[in-house]
Amino acid sequence: MARQSDSNRAATRWTVRIIPFFIVGTFGVGTYAVVGRLLVEYLYQEERQTDLVAALLVLYFLFFLLTVSAYARTLLTTQLDPGLVPLIHDRGADEKQHRKDRAGRGRDAEANVWVPPDQNPDSPGLEAFYSKEVFVCEADGRPKWCSECRQWKPDRAHHSSELDRCVRKMDHLCPWVGGIVAETSFNFFFQFTLYTACLCFICIATAAYSLQMQNQQGRGLDGWVIVVIVLAAVFGFFTFAMTLTSARFIFTNITNIDMLRKTQVFFLAVRIPLNSPPSDKFPSIVYPLQPYQAWEAPGQGQTQPNGGAGGHGSARDQQAARRCAILRTEPRENPWDLGYWGNWKSVMGNNVVEWLLPIKHSPCCNHESMEGDYQFGPLVAELKKRYGIAEAVTDVRGEMEMHNTGISGT
Ligand SMILES: [Zn+2]
Repeated sequence: MARQSDSNRAATRWTVRIIPFFIVGTFGVGTYAVVGRLLVEYLYQEERQTDLVAALLVLYFLFFLLTVSAYARTLLTTQLDPGLVPLIHDRGADEKQHRKDRAGRGRDAEANVWVPPDQNPDSPGLEAFYSKEVFVCEADGRPKWCSECRQWKPDRAHHSSELDRCVRKMDHLCPWVGGIVAETSFNFFFQFTLYTACLCFICIATAAYSLQMQNQQGRGLDGWVIVVIVLAAVFGFFTFAMTLTSARFIFTNITNIDMLRKTQVFFLAVRIPLNSPPSDKFPSIVYPLQPYQAWEAPGQGQTQPNGGAGGHGSARDQQAARRCAILRTEPRENPWDLGYWGNWKSVMGNNVVEWLLPIKHSPCCNHESMEGDYQFGPLVAELKKRYGIAEAVTDVRGEMEMHNTGISGT
């Protein structure tokens, strides 16, 4: 299988190649020291502590296997399936120029050449957004635009300059696992850091016990004990901190990227009935976009008769027409917060086996729901209430109606 994530930068490519060998080497040295020297040669052969050695060996190899399998799964996923947003049109002929431009501009100047959003009302990929009940948009109601990929950017996607592609629910570039940790690998990454921290704890406990015994026996300092304690303390501290951070991201349904933009606000395009009367509280937009004025500013009212689907749109457009209210969140509000338990399950899976073993992708990698790219939390209902939009129901004909308010759907 071709590597999707061939990195642009030579330095990263080399880091990615070297670090796995470094990690395998460290695991090798660690296992030799803990199992070979401390558990077998010292505690078993010299001290005859059979039960303790057996228990520690079982624990060691259990967490060793879990760590290695989670690491392998994370590594493979970041290399083969990093969660890239598919390119709608091949950058093809432009690609060579695009790469040349990037190389010429260098790393810091990447943002300088801005390709504006596609103004074509039938812009490729747009329909995938307004087919959903809710999607993230700009203040004008169009989806976010990626100037580098030259296409609309799905909810929660972030452009990785490393891969030169948009990545879904990107978290961070992790040299330890050789790539971008994102929605496809975050659960495996979390398991990897958790199991490594546990393994390090077992190593420290074994070494500390051996050290204490050797002290009591008046022996000199054992070099292997020191090696184990130093390695396990460094790796253990680092992975334990990563585990805590990752757990926090999982339980609150945020990413590192969200953390960097603490005060970000989101505009959400929320589907409302086509004929909703104009509101001075929020603007709305009608899709498919018309070649002329596509959105209405607050208070300007309804400029297009028949819910904006009129004008010179085709009959097909009129049938498919959808109106979306453009609602703004407050800073720190997270539209995808499903509560601790819902957030955990959306990343880690629906049962204990998925939580513990690096087998299945996170449920949040499934984007087939027509509700939204990612499951939205109660904030959407809260926003509707805040902006005076009644709860909508979709009737049997698939048309939206409003419940018990003056805002009538028909
Ligand atoms: Zn992009």
